[in-house]
Amino acid sequence: MKQYGRCVGLMVMVWAAWYALLIGSGGAVSVETINVSFLRLTENFANWHLLGDILYFLFSQVLLILFLSIIIFWISVGLEESLKIKHWVSILAASVPVLMVIHLLNSLLYPVSITAISVEILSAQSILIISCVFSLLFILLAALRRKLILLQIALVGLALGSVYFLQPQTGVAHFEKKGVPTDQPNIIILGIDALRPAALSESVDGETLMPFLTSLLNEATLYDNAYTPVARTHAAWVSILSGRYPLNNGARFNLMKDSYIDKENLITHALKKDGYQTIWGLDERRFNNIDSTYGFDKVVGPEVGAADFIITKFSDLPAINIFANTRVGKFLFPYIYINRGNFVTYVPYQFNAELINALSGESPVFLAAHFCLPHYPFVNNMMRRIELEDPDAPKTYPNYLSMLELVDRQLDDLVKRLKKRGYLEDAIVYILSDHGEGFPGIDKPMANGNPYASFESNLFGHGTSLLTQTQYKILLARLEFKEGRIVGEAKKNSRLASLIDIVPDIVSSSDLNLNFQTDGVALMELPKQRHVILESSYSNEAVSASRINQLAVLQQSADAYEVDDQGRLFLQENLYSAFSQAKQRAVISSDDVMVALYPEEKESAFVVDLESHVWWPSNAFVPIDKKVWKDNLSFLCDFYKDDMTFAHRELCDIN
Ligand SMILES: [Zn+2]
Repeated sequence: MKQYGRCVGLMVMVWAAWYALLIGSGGAVSVETINVSFLRLTENFANWHLLGDILYFLFSQVLLILFLSIIIFWISVGLEESLKIKHWVSILAASVPVLMVIHLLNSLLYPVSITAISVEILSAQSILIISCVFSLLFILLAALRRKLILLQIALVGLALGSVYFLQPQTGVAHFEKKGVPTDQPNIIILGIDALRPAALSESVDGETLMPFLTSLLNEATLYDNAYTPVARTHAAWVSILSGRYPLNNGARFNLMKDSYIDKENLITHALKKDGYQTIWGLDERRFNNIDSTYGFDKVVGPEVGAADFIITKFSDLPAINIFANTRVGKFLFPYIYINRGNFVTYVPYQFNAELINALSGESPVFLAAHFCLPHYPFVNNMMRRIELEDPDAPKTYPNYLSMLELVDRQLDDLVKRLKKRGYLEDAIVYILSDHGEGFPGIDKPMANGNPYASFESNLFGHGTSLLTQTQYKILLARLEFKEGRIVGEAKKNSRLASLIDIVPDIVSSSDLNLNFQTDGVALMELPKQRHVILESSYSNEAVSASRINQLAVLQQSADAYEVDDQGRLFLQENLYSAFSQAKQRAVISSDDVMVALYPEEKESAFVVDLESHVWWPSNAFVPIDKKVWKDNLSFLCDFYKDDMTFAHRELCDIN
C-alpha cells in the first residue's frame, strides 16, 4: 500500500509538471473572439452548477491519476521481484514506459497539443510496442510471483476492457439499424459554420478545396443569391428553425436569456406532431445553446455550460487527451468529448458517429446538425497545412481554408453514414452556412461613390458590418434523395433568398400544418421581386467611443456575460436594449440594391449597389433610381416600426 502511495505521489508530481507547462505556455487559444475573461467567471464560482462541473473535472483527473498509478505500481512490483532493486528505483523505472506511451500516443494522435513532440510514426510505433510489451511482461511477473489471482483476473479484464473502452469512437456502431422507409421523407439540414460561398472556388495545389461539397452542389438546386438575416450562429439557427427574422423570433444575439426567445413557434414542434423524430447536433455549444427545449427529442454535442471556457483551457494534458475520445472519456470529460471548441482532441468523424447513433429507424427523422470546424481560431489536430502565395492574404486565411478542407471530409463521412443507414432512401436535404466570414486582404473593399463622404466600411470576422458582404452571403442548396441517390435536375436559382425561407420550403414540400406565420417564402416559389432584412450583431469596432463608454457603464463587470443557476453563460439582460440600439440594419431588394442604417450615422443612410460594390450617402446625390432605394428605405422603416430600439426614425422621412 505504501508503495502504491508513492506511485500516486509520483503521478501527482508529473501532473503538476504538465500543468506548469500548459500554464507557462499561455494555455489554449480561445475559440470565440468575444472576451469572456477567466476573472469574470471566477466571480461566479459561488454558482453551484459551475462549481459542480469544475469539481467533476478535477475528480475525473484524480481517477486517471489513481488508474495510471496502479499500472506503475504493478510494473514496479514486477521489477522489484525479478531484479531485486530498491523501491524508489523500481517506481521510477516503471514510470518510464508508462509516461513514454502517454506522450507518444498524445504526439501521434494530437499533434497540436502543447506537450506533443514531433515524432516519426514508424519509430514511435516501435517504441510504443516495446514499452507496452515491457510493461505487460513485468505486470505479469508481478502477478505470478505474488500469486495475486485477483490481479490476474483484473489484468485480463483490463485487457479486454481496454479494447472496448479505449478505442476511439469513430466507427459506425456494429449493428445496422436501417432506417425503416416511411411515407414521409426524412428532412435533414446540414449547416457549415462561417462558410463563405466564394471560398468554394478556391483550389489548393490545383485541386478543388471542397471536392465532396462541390460534387453535391453540382447535382443540387443552388440558391446563389442567399443571405443570413444575422451573422451569428445561434441567432441564425433560430431564424432557420422559425422561418422568422430575429426581430420576430426574439433571438437577436448569441446567448440571450431563454425567456426572450420564442421557442414555441418553431418547425420542430410541427414535425414532432407529424410523427417525426427530431434531432439536434452541434459540436461547439459555447455561444449557441440550442437544446431539447427548442423541440428536439435528442441533442448531440458536448455538455453545455460556462464550465466549457475553463475546462477546455486547462485540459490539454497528454493523459487527458489520450482518453478524450474514448468511451471512458465521454463519461469522465463530457465538456471535452466531441467538443470542437477543444480543437486539440476534436475528431470530426466521432461527432458524426454520435449523430448517427442518435437516429433510430422507427419514424421519419428531422436532423438539424451544424459543423463548427471553420469557426475561428481555424485550428484542429487533423488539419492539413495549406500554403498560399497571395501576399495580401492574412495569416488566418490559409488556416480557414484548411478547416474548410477538413469539414468537407466530415460532410463526406456523414453523408456516407446516412446513406449506409438508409436515411437517404427518401430525404430532403438542405446544405447551408449560418453566415460567411470577412478577411482583410481577400475581400475587395466596398468603394465609396461620393468623394466627399468617408466611412470605415471594412470590418472583418462575422456579424460586425453589413457593408462587408462576405459576412452575410451564405451557401444555400437543396437536394432530394430517393433510394440513396440524388434525384431531380441540377439548377441554379439566383433569386434573392434568405435562411428564413427554409421552414416555408419544408411546409410546401409536405402536408405540415404550422400554427404560426413565417417571414419567408418557400425556396421553390421565390418571387422575382422581394426584400430581405439583415441586421448586424453588436461589434465594438463598429460603434463610437461614446457608445462603448455608455455600454461599459451598463455592464456590471468586465464582460458582458453572466452565469445562470444552471451553470450556463448568458448575455447580461440589462445590455439587450443598448446592444440592440447599436445594431446596423439593412434591407436588400431583388434589384441588388441595399439600404443600410448605421447607429453612428444620424444624417444619412447608406445606399449600396451590390453589383458594382459601391456605396453612397443618402443625403447627397445617389446615381441609383430614387424610387428603388426609397422603397427599400420605407420597407426597412416599416419592418422596424414597432422595435423600441430602432433609433433612426428621422431618416425614414427623407424626401
Ligand atoms: Zn456561426
